[in-house]
Amino acid sequence: MTVAGVSNKKVVGIDLGTTNSCVAVLEGNNVTVIPNPDGGRTSPSVVAFLKGGERLTGPLAKRQAATNPEGTIYSVKRLMGRRFTAPEVVRHRALCSYRIVEAANGDARILADGTERSPAEISSMVLGYLKDAAEAYLGEQVTEAVITCPAYFDDAQRQATKDAGKIAGLGVRRIINEPTAAALAYGQGDAGREGRTRLVAVYDLGGGTFDISILELAQGVYTVRSTSGNTFLGGEDFDQRLVDILADEFLKAEGTDLRQDAKALQRLREAAEKAKHELSSSLETEINLPFIASGKSGPVHLNRTLWRSEFEQLVAELVDQTFGPCKQALADARLTTKNLDEVILVGGMTRMPFVRQRVEEFFGRPPSQGVNPDEVVAVGAALQGAALEGQTGEVLLLDITPLSLGVETGGGVFTRLIPRNTTVPCRKREVFTTSLDNQPFVPVHVLQGEREMAADNKTLARFELVGIPPAPRGVPQVEVLFDIDADGILSVTARDLGTGRKHAVQVVAASGLSKDEVEQLVREAETHKSTDSMRRDRAEAKNAANALLYTTKKALAEFRSVLSEPDAEAIEADVAALEALLENGAVEKLREATKLLESSAYRIAEAIYAGARGDEAPAAEGPPPSSTPDTSK
Ligand code: AMP
Repeated sequence: MTVAGVSNKKVVGIDLGTTNSCVAVLEGNNVTVIPNPDGGRTSPSVVAFLKGGERLTGPLAKRQAATNPEGTIYSVKRLMGRRFTAPEVVRHRALCSYRIVEAANGDARILADGTERSPAEISSMVLGYLKDAAEAYLGEQVTEAVITCPAYFDDAQRQATKDAGKIAGLGVRRIINEPTAAALAYGQGDAGREGRTRLVAVYDLGGGTFDISILELAQGVYTVRSTSGNTFLGGEDFDQRLVDILADEFLKAEGTDLRQDAKALQRLREAAEKAKHELSSSLETEINLPFIASGKSGPVHLNRTLWRSEFEQLVAELVDQTFGPCKQALADARLTTKNLDEVILVGGMTRMPFVRQRVEEFFGRPPSQGVNPDEVVAVGAALQGAALEGQTGEVLLLDITPLSLGVETGGGVFTRLIPRNTTVPCRKREVFTTSLDNQPFVPVHVLQGEREMAADNKTLARFELVGIPPAPRGVPQVEVLFDIDADGILSVTARDLGTGRKHAVQVVAASGLSKDEVEQLVREAETHKSTDSMRRDRAEAKNAANALLYTTKKALAEFRSVLSEPDAEAIEADVAALEALLENGAVEKLREATKLLESSAYRIAEAIYAGARGDEAPAAEGPPPSSTPDTSK
């Protein structure tokens, strides 16, 4: 039976992971994780191209990797929507055994089986595999999905994820952030329901990346307070540490560098990962690689016992690297670990007891036991899919904008309208004015970044609001409205409040900025803080001086007759002194000269009012324009 307004269409939730992927669906009141044909609840995000043109996906593809290193494609998520020259791609190229080439448009492409394919195309094969598994399980066609991506994915990466879904024949109902999905799955079983607001940290250490997000969970409303991470840190780095130790030892003992042989290296990588997994449940493990190389006196084998404590020492530094972003996320959310109600673990690497132990030490509480780190993201995505179909209570997911948004104002200053880490959707308006008499248009330069001067930030859009009627500077009122919707799309509207004339543009807030670029911009802003604030001070002092010069000169021209000659000359001298300092004068001098002119200019008003006593008062000028930034340079 279908309740009015509620469909019984199945929208699956898919966690498209770097290493493993998972698909889930709401059945009745519970979410089911759908097994693959091998019975696995997660599937390797691996596609293999075999010599005869055959293609394998999932566990079968992973199993044959050692015998087909060039034709086995994994970790393509790192390449999604990325340029060939992006640092993540450069590093991935150095570590992986298949070929990555540069497409004509500069994007990274995968070369296998004599064909160049985009990362989205490879991902679509993984999605297609999960779609087939879901259809076999449900006994019906699956055409719609909610797919997750890392919180820091930019517009190009989200678009590539959407494309992958489309190629796989899935209508992508929404792309949601992995930590938000994890919180959603956690929240369904716990928070929100009792109406209590909870603060939750989602610590996600996967195969290739680390992400930390702080969320606030209230009844049906999930607000991301802050997010941070490291795109260069994940399980593969743990494996690599072990591979290096084993290869170094082997080189010393046998004189052969296993890293120079693609097949041997692939076997070594697999053995390292297997040992890592085993050490999550045992205290020691055997690494056994028979016939790994051939020496002078025949085949050579690699045999070694590895202790959990030995492995922990090897990777302790990697685990510690996750806490820098954790501190940053807490600081951005203005919280300490004491304020948190829960820590949720996501990602296969959080199965490692040492990771759990260090996380517990850092946050001062044991992490939540209630969620399965490999499945929680897909479960959250399935819940969101069901909510979109009206099958569960409404959920509102509130993400944040990773960088500040604003406009350029007088003197090239960047004026923030929406600071970074503001919850979206959001709206912000501010009124600006003109800086010249009879200025017929106002240029609007929309920017994103953390620096104080516009030129140092990233331009998102430029447009002009035209048709402003002739008026003295400072009189027209131009309202600039920033509006970010739930999908992170920014619209900017400028409106002349006098005439109602409007100009609007839509810009994609996150476009073209990778997580690293975001981090880089934030870091740069930190380093340049003092020079930036000096430049900002200067621009503001100049704006104030300009405004005062304008009104004083205008008043002087109009009311010179009521002033005594010495007074008029004194004011003119102060005007000239200030003008001389305008371009290159030191900020302090500029401020002093402005103050001086301010006090001498009062004489104009004094003279006017003195003359007006008993007389008819001439129309006095209003106060000089305030220091409200104006939108022209
Ligand atoms: P994900 O990207 O969330 O699928 O995480 C995959 C990473 O988790 C890979 O580096 C796996 O080797 C690692 N992983 C999975 N299971 C375990 C385990 N039981 N112990 C340690 N690491 C694991």
